[in-house]
Amino acid sequence: MPMDPYTICPCGSGKKLKFCCLSISTEMEKVERLIDNHQPRMALQILDKLVKTNELNPWVVTRQAASLMSDDRAADARNALLMFLRHRSDHPSANALYAMAMLQADGLPEARKAIRRAFRFSIAAEPVIVAGLAQYLAEYHWQLEQFMATRQHMVMALQLGNENQRQEVLQLLMEFDADPSVPFVFRGGQTIPPYTPPEAAAEAVNKAQRLASVGCWGDAATQLTASAEQHDPGSANLWRLIGLFRAWDGDEAAAASALHKSAELDTANFESAVETEALAQELERNVPDNCTKLRTSLYDTDMVSRLLTKLDESPLLVKIPPQPAQENEQQPIAGIYAVLDREPGEFRPDVQLGDLSRIIGRITVLDSNPEKALPPRALTTALEGDKLQHTKSTLESVAGDLVRHALDDTTEGQVIGVERPDDEPMTFDYYMPKAIPAGDRRRLRRTFLNNCWGDGWKTHPLRAFGGKTPQQVASDPQAKMKLAAAIDCLEAVADDMSSLAPIEAIQKEYGLPAPTAIHIKDDSHLQSLSLSQLRRVDVSSLSDEQFRTVVQRASMARMGRLTHRLLKTWVEERDAAFKDNDERLMILASLADLTSRSLHDQEALEWNAQARKVVDALPNSFERVVEWKLRELQLQLENQDKVNSLFRELWDVYGAKLPRLRKILGGIVEELGIERPWDQGIVSVAGDTASLWPSSTPSDAPANQKLWLPGNG
Ligand SMILES: [Zn+2]
Repeated sequence: MPMDPYTICPCGSGKKLKFCCLSISTEMEKVERLIDNHQPRMALQILDKLVKTNELNPWVVTRQAASLMSDDRAADARNALLMFLRHRSDHPSANALYAMAMLQADGLPEARKAIRRAFRFSIAAEPVIVAGLAQYLAEYHWQLEQFMATRQHMVMALQLGNENQRQEVLQLLMEFDADPSVPFVFRGGQTIPPYTPPEAAAEAVNKAQRLASVGCWGDAATQLTASAEQHDPGSANLWRLIGLFRAWDGDEAAAASALHKSAELDTANFESAVETEALAQELERNVPDNCTKLRTSLYDTDMVSRLLTKLDESPLLVKIPPQPAQENEQQPIAGIYAVLDREPGEFRPDVQLGDLSRIIGRITVLDSNPEKALPPRALTTALEGDKLQHTKSTLESVAGDLVRHALDDTTEGQVIGVERPDDEPMTFDYYMPKAIPAGDRRRLRRTFLNNCWGDGWKTHPLRAFGGKTPQQVASDPQAKMKLAAAIDCLEAVADDMSSLAPIEAIQKEYGLPAPTAIHIKDDSHLQSLSLSQLRRVDVSSLSDEQFRTVVQRASMARMGRLTHRLLKTWVEERDAAFKDNDERLMILASLADLTSRSLHDQEALEWNAQARKVVDALPNSFERVVEWKLRELQLQLENQDKVNSLFRELWDVYGAKLPRLRKILGGIVEELGIERPWDQGIVSVAGDTASLWPSSTPSDAPANQKLWLPGNG
């Protein structure tokens, strides 16, 4: 069907087709049909001719670029658009396509500037392309662990995307907000402070807001900074706004400095100052210059199997179970070893944390890849400085002439991960040999955690205090706000470790004011709170429905301390709010898990006992009793007699009626490496028992599974 000549011309001129591009419309209709039918090459045959006489016609040029991109010729599309944009620099569709073509041809960060231009000029005309660009940027910032920029680009994609994009982004956003490896201050969004500029700055601030509304936060922040310095240097809200914009743009150093300023100026409101300062501290810790870098070093080797034998024999190296192969892996992994700082000693029943060797680095042996002509290699990985040196010299001395440093080693300068020096005391790098029984592992881990939340943190220098320790600044009244923020950051670390830190006790010890409770006005007030603020909600004034909402938000966000406090309140003070016994048991199980993961076994046993009372009173609760007894078993690991009697009871009394249980018990015994507490002559253990072992906790996982988090989790 021929196009209506009185329709608006597709070239974007705003004129009617009859008075604009009518002369090419017959040809272009064919092009549009071919594009719709996914035949870009056929479309290009027509377009290549048309473009010769219509090189500045946006209709022709944008369709040509789109066809080139669908034909995987992004660089050609980029070049064609670049020529056009020299004459029509603000054309909406051309800018959007140009950014997309550049992204495909050159990748980030080369395409960054073009993407910013597309944000500025193309949002109204090409929202779907711009949403796609925002998604790319979100992914890019995620790789750099720039969390605020990640989330804000996701929000932008969510606002602009089509139905498919929205579904995809919404899912990612929910995962992001539930991810405890992202500090909670970065999750759930931040509140934008209200700001009314002085009259002289009104125009500049308006312009900045317009820029920010189309995702150009860096430009907006530059605009606002000039305005702040000239007209309103003392506004806490303005500096907070600048800080948020900088962070959303991915400039974390500048963001931290603006937010520090805002927090210092915000003298009237301690809590909001702390929330802003916590953002600043988290951002600042993440700036690459402030991190210790994980680096690698490459070695040539001729005989992989002989090298492996040598490495296997060394008491300074521990073989790590292979990780699942990565898609982009160039060479198959032949073996991975943890490098110890010294030989592990013999196991003694009273072994202490200080007796254990520590893991300082890793050696990876790579097989050759004949297809890509890649020779066999060995790769050392460790944090720069002493650990890297020690790792390299260990490989060199163990392997001798089986390895030599690769002449073409280009990896030395590469950073494959980072460690934040602030978090050093919280890094578990002890090597626990298999000979250490499960109960002792638990004891040692508890010592480690107690130390983390005690002297480990309190006597460790922190960046936020200019290298002083929390202990050293505790008596300085000027440092209260920064100290409170640092404790918030500590809570985020504890959440990431699935551990409950004694945050209240630390706050009290350092004389920090008790948090001001937030009294909830209505449901929308509740929904508008940041995760930081959620911790301060006065729960006694909430309806049961609102209480559930708070519990749900806290547990979805995996905020351990808050969830623990809320669930405890539920059991102890809101007992009537339980729908039924199933819900009651679910909450008790969550409490038992939370406390057990933190190795607070005594408290976990109490929740366990409460649950048993409920279960015992239920009819037909045989399997549930077994489930709770299995939970108890794990909590009693340090008490050999108790473990034995529980095992025997489960084996004899319950196992007789529940054959599956005996398999599970066999699996547990094997997993824990303990002697079978019942008579000989049982079952061979088969099948996957791990999933049946209730709440198999991260803290009981073998040490080597938690070896390296940065970059290679
Ligand atoms: Zn036209």
